[in-house]
Amino acid sequence: MAFDCMLCKATEADIHPVRDAKDGRPIEIALCRSCGHVQLADRPDLATLQAFYGSDYRKAYRKADAPKPRHVFRAGRDASERLARLMAHVTPGARLLDIGAGGGEFVYLAGQRGLRAQGIDPSSGYLEFARENYGVEMRAIGVEALDPAERYDVITLFHVLEHLPAPREAIEAAAGHLDEGGLLYIEVPDLCAKDTTPTNLWFKAHLSYFTEETLRLIVEERFEILDSSSGRVLTMILRKRPAPQPLADLQARHAAAIDLSRRRIREKTFGEYLLNGGLLSPVASAARILREARGTRGRGAREILDALA
Ligand SMILES: [Zn+2]
Repeated sequence: MAFDCMLCKATEADIHPVRDAKDGRPIEIALCRSCGHVQLADRPDLATLQAFYGSDYRKAYRKADAPKPRHVFRAGRDASERLARLMAHVTPGARLLDIGAGGGEFVYLAGQRGLRAQGIDPSSGYLEFARENYGVEMRAIGVEALDPAERYDVITLFHVLEHLPAPREAIEAAAGHLDEGGLLYIEVPDLCAKDTTPTNLWFKAHLSYFTEETLRLIVEERFEILDSSSGRVLTMILRKRPAPQPLADLQARHAAAIDLSRRRIREKTFGEYLLNGGLLSPVASAARILREARGTRGRGAREILDALA
């Protein structure tokens, strides 16, 4: 299978055989020798992907078309943390579009904070749940189906980019729907995370495995970074530039990205995981189960989120 890099179109890569975290089947990961982007070596074609996300994805990952109370609680906790960070950069009344809005928890909580929020997601099962339970505006479409005239002050992409076959183009599309000075808020899994096991890292649904270096390569031409963090996840709050600005020192940046990606793949071991929280993970799991039981007991989905707001 010929390789072509989804970020830079180069055709040379280091290939690593790994196993899918969900079903243990062998898959191949490619590290681009030109830009350092780590990606699934053998990408499914677009039609296969669209069919997968249209119906099978939620079932494969959640086994139901309505989220369980503990999933609402978990998503609500993530949403309120993301919102707290975003509110430092926006004013009430801002128009927000959440792409890949899932169960609508973020859209609902953003509305509670005074933002004019709506969501899109090509997987419609959760959207009906969100409309019925939270009264939020959700559409069952992908970003490519947005009306070109739609404009927002904030666009959010939480755990979306790693699923897309053309992430650079998705950033470009998002930029096209933002007014000047508009914000793009991205969160993806971090290849540099040290507190995940090597067996819970590679997923055939994840086409990209970003580091801070490779994510910066695809956003910085159109956006200025206002806030970024790495660790378990990689997050960036970005402001759209008045005009695209070509990246300087591209060769040096590619070299740094390649070095970092190679180092991360080499260092990704059980030893690293155990030294970075793995030894305490049974305690952390027990604490999480208790917290979720307390946060959901006797509450409907909306009440769970209201308690988190
Ligand atoms: Zn590349």
